[in-house]
Amino acid sequence: MRLHNKVALITGGASGIGEETSYLFAAEGAKVIIADIHKEKINRIVENLRKRGHEVLGIQCDVSKELEVKQLIYQSIEFFGRLDILFNNAGAILPKKLQAISSEEWDHLFKVNVKSIFLTVKHGLDYLKNSEGSIINMASMTGVVGQQNNPAYSATKGAVIALTKAMAIDFAPYNVRVNSLSPAGVNTPLLETWIAKQHNPEKARHAQDRSHLLGRMASSLEIAKVVLFLGSCDSSFITGENIVVDGGATIGYAAGP
Ligand code: NAD
Repeated sequence: MRLHNKVALITGGASGIGEETSYLFAAEGAKVIIADIHKEKINRIVENLRKRGHEVLGIQCDVSKELEVKQLIYQSIEFFGRLDILFNNAGAILPKKLQAISSEEWDHLFKVNVKSIFLTVKHGLDYLKNSEGSIINMASMTGVVGQQNNPAYSATKGAVIALTKAMAIDFAPYNVRVNSLSPAGVNTPLLETWIAKQHNPEKARHAQDRSHLLGRMASSLEIAKVVLFLGSCDSSFITGENIVVDGGATIGYAAGP
């Protein structure tokens, strides 16, 4: 019960890594707020968690919109009275060559992947300060090394890593820690959708697996466990870090058979 009585807000908490983290955090004793744009998915998870006796709140929210985020924080505090962990996980992809990206698509991706973090922290910080909080931001390996035909996404995730460090400096005096994590390929609906759209999905999946030194993608649970570490006091002396959780995908070049 590493999160006993902690209140955790998880954006994008209704699918993939966010969903897995919602279950893991609840199992570790946290009271969880699941914020997502998909109401039906939220309802299903909330129902499952309540059946298991967990305290959970589901809120439909587009985290790229300030009014909705303001309302999200307000409702969370009204319901649970405090906020200890903020996992900024909601994200979208835009796998297109730079010249094929419209100005609107570029702006929208930055709103969902980067501005959302500015908004949740802006409106949630005062509560996190009161509880020596932990902010965890979802970046990506593509923010560390770049990725072919994915310039907008890479740029947003690089921005997440830089924003994390800047916030860690400013919030350290309040004992609020801020870290990011950078997975490579993770088996989630987001990645499955991307693979399915490729010219040869089987080949694309194989290439994804092979790009990790460990020869496979991560499971959502393997990522959620790192989020748990960053959210709990097990990581009490870590702030401003970007934890790369990539099965060795970024450390070198494996040219073997
Ligand atoms: P996913 O699509 O399974 O889950 C993302 C969730 O975010 C969805 O439930 C979606 O509804 C929600 N969401 C999207 N836009 C939103 C918005 N504006 N407001 C509120 N909720 C919104 O994807 P996932 O793979 O679990 O991705 C989670 C995070 O992990 C993303 O930030 C993604 O960029 C990052 N990531 C994923 C991988 C991967 O390989 N899957 C790798 C590195 C980083």
